[in-house]
Amino acid sequence: MTQTNTYDVLIVGGGLAGLSCALHLSKHDCKVLLIEKQSYPHHKVCGEYVSNEVLPYLNSLEIDPFQFGAKKITNFEISSKTGTLLSTKLPLGGFGMSRFALDNLLYEAVSSNIDILFDTVENIDFNTNFQVSTLTKQVFTAEYVVGAFGKRSNIDTALHRPFMQQKSPWLAVKAHYKADFSNDTVGLHNFKGGYCGLSRTETNAVNACYLTTYESFKRFGNIPDFEAAVLSKNPHLKQFYNTATPLFEKPLTISQISFQVKQPVEHHIFMVGDSAGLIHPLCGNGMAMAIHSAKIFAETYLKHRKNGTKDREALENTYTLLWNQTFLKRLHTGRKIQKLLLHPTATSVGFSVAKLFPSIVPSIIKKTHGAPLV
Ligand SMILES: Cc1cc2nc3c(=O)[nH]c(=O)nc-3n(C[C@H](O)[C@H](O)[C@H](O)COP(=O)(O)OP(=O)(O)OC[C@H]3O[C@@H](n4cnc5c(N)ncnc54)[C@H](O)[C@@H]3O)c2cc1C
Repeated sequence: MTQTNTYDVLIVGGGLAGLSCALHLSKHDCKVLLIEKQSYPHHKVCGEYVSNEVLPYLNSLEIDPFQFGAKKITNFEISSKTGTLLSTKLPLGGFGMSRFALDNLLYEAVSSNIDILFDTVENIDFNTNFQVSTLTKQVFTAEYVVGAFGKRSNIDTALHRPFMQQKSPWLAVKAHYKADFSNDTVGLHNFKGGYCGLSRTETNAVNACYLTTYESFKRFGNIPDFEAAVLSKNPHLKQFYNTATPLFEKPLTISQISFQVKQPVEHHIFMVGDSAGLIHPLCGNGMAMAIHSAKIFAETYLKHRKNGTKDREALENTYTLLWNQTFLKRLHTGRKIQKLLLHPTATSVGFSVAKLFPSIVPSIIKKTHGAPLV
């Protein structure tokens, strides 16, 4: 597509939030530019279990993950760090698909309908309209900017966002494996100081992704030793890591994962996905929230545009209200569950209670998920 320098909406970041937002707006005759710093496809550190909450919405955007081999996931199993196992049906269910394939699927669906630039955004300035400049010194003007730049970006530093002032103790490791694991199950296995998610992807590879603290990890200094000494104390993880064959040359890692509160609108930028707030990964709902927040922005913006109003403040207030109504409670519940799971006594009491009253697990899952989007 030809690039002109002025846009209705400029989206910074082409992960699931940015791409869904672009795809939605592209169906309504908006002039959209999406700037993404990495080419497609690429792997990302993620558990790769997507809640069905967003499946009807993805279908409405003409995206069908099952056509591309996504695995239908209906069951959930969770184990304590000593291996006590609880299994349940997932209230909504979901699908397993690698970020390599899913992000690329959305990119291919939108790439011929909007302008896409592969570059790194360095600055976003606002003065009645936005001026966005990139690493390669290109400058674009836009009426609205959507911040879809993920959990931590150079833009957060440039904007002096408060959560960047504090160090985060969390890091994550992910790789694909050839392994024996059910197609229809997502596993969440706890170990001292963290937890590991297991689920199958469209290539049949099993994705193993864990979150832990730098404090736990630093005594070992390398991934294989950490997995052998810490994760493998959980018998389910021991069995997995002892028998699985790695399919990546080496695992992907990320650090400084912050779960601090952020705002849905900052510096007049509409934040979607992790830029607005990251739910604890054990909820398995960050991707659905990223896609859902993109839908909320796109719908609110389109309504505002249809009304012909130029009231920026009203749009910002409506988006903030809807975002808070939809996600604040889930983020809060996610924080509480994570705290509980990492507390040894609380976890052992929790597992004993859940063994006696198995319906507790699905009802907790429901608290971090929404109804299917139409
Ligand atoms: C360990 C872990 C496990 C998880 N497991 C799951 C799970 O199983 N299920 C689930 O639903 N969620 C999970 N999540 C959450 C999920 O990964 C995120 O919520 C989701 O990726 C958010 O999508 P996004 O589009 O907001 O951000 P991202 O996918 O991170 O996309 C942001 C994009 O912005 C680009 N970008 C950043 N800065 C710039 C810039 N300056 N210029 C241009 N481009 C830029 C990046 O390259 C990136 O492509 C997990 C998260 C973690 C940390």
